[in-house]
Amino acid sequence: MYNKEMQHLGEERSVIRELFDYGSLRKQAVGSENVFDFSIGNPSVPAPAFVQEEIRRLIDTVPPEALHGYTPAAGAPEARKAVADYIEREFGAPMSEDLVYMTCGASASLAIITAALYEEGDEFVVLAPFFPEYRVFVEGAGATLVVAPTDERFHPDFHALEQVITRRTKAVILNSPNNPTGAVISGEELKTLAVLLEKKSAEKGEPIFLIADEPYRELVYGVTVPFPMNYYRDTVVCYSFSKSLSLAGERIGYVAVSPKCREAKSLFAAVCGAGRRLGYVCAPALFQRVCAAALGRVSDVGKYRENRDILYDFLTKTGYECMPPEGAFYLFVKALEPDAVAFSERAKKHELLLVPSDSFGVTGYVRISYCVSRATIERSLPAFRDLYEEYHPRSC
Ligand code: PLP
Repeated sequence: MYNKEMQHLGEERSVIRELFDYGSLRKQAVGSENVFDFSIGNPSVPAPAFVQEEIRRLIDTVPPEALHGYTPAAGAPEARKAVADYIEREFGAPMSEDLVYMTCGASASLAIITAALYEEGDEFVVLAPFFPEYRVFVEGAGATLVVAPTDERFHPDFHALEQVITRRTKAVILNSPNNPTGAVISGEELKTLAVLLEKKSAEKGEPIFLIADEPYRELVYGVTVPFPMNYYRDTVVCYSFSKSLSLAGERIGYVAVSPKCREAKSLFAAVCGAGRRLGYVCAPALFQRVCAAALGRVSDVGKYRENRDILYDFLTKTGYECMPPEGAFYLFVKALEPDAVAFSERAKKHELLLVPSDSFGVTGYVRISYCVSRATIERSLPAFRDLYEEYHPRSC
């Protein structure tokens, strides 16, 4: 009668959403100031003032039928050109507007590129821990998700990666800055990855693609994020303005196919075909214009940095173990017992909503989204201390 797989996907509860819903109920019960909801990655810092001004300017100056009408499926020509120019200017990478496809955010970019690349029997490699929706996009395209472990700093373990990349591998998906760990891949690591992918592509006799999922590119703390197209030719960047401009609900991003990709034009045609098949008629027209004008602008990352510093210092001084995140707005903290789900349940008793790591493909950690108000961070500290002392009672 209908598709059971879709029913399952629709009914399957996302752990993150479940915690978020639980948090809403708790806020009603005990007051929102007493619940420390670190479950969801919704930007807490407003979009730069320029974004609001540009929206107003466009509404006041562009006739509504032009402003809100369809754009070409791949995007408004001016928006595609602005993105291509920005990539050339900012990263010194050659880029053509003909290879930029405007999308409804990184989720759409990923669904589109996996569908565009997939051929029967293909595998897509991800590095654990990974954004849980990768499984949905990869399996939705018909492919198999293959998971490679990372090292103790959550950086690529090239030996492990080498083991899982085979002739069946169509692409490796790389997310830096990373959700959920905050790790940022270095230029040296990208070089090593490029050498490995070149070697494996030569063995396969076909390119193995690098899909760079980059919604957090600008959210970094004292490091720069190397641009993958400058390291590996067969690279496709999936970008989103959700986090950099705090526009998560407006659904806007792009796919950029490197002009150095083998058969780049044909791959871009497949991107257009996948967008068509998936029903993405065009990306939101107003926000194509807004983002084209706002390229290079970023929400106030300083606010995330303050939250990160307060929380990281307090947690590590208390005795929690975690790597200092270099980017994004997540802390990935070792659970105080092996079962992260049980730990997350115990944290709830202290009104702390922490996402267990199992859905990210690793066990024994929790993710803390510190894109919350400074007040929430500060009020949560005693709860983190009480939780720690529950596991490590102080001897009198
Ligand atoms: N990729 C990663 C790693 C993410 O964390 C997210 C959102 O949290 C996405 C993709 C999807 O982003 P978007 O809101 O642009 O669809």
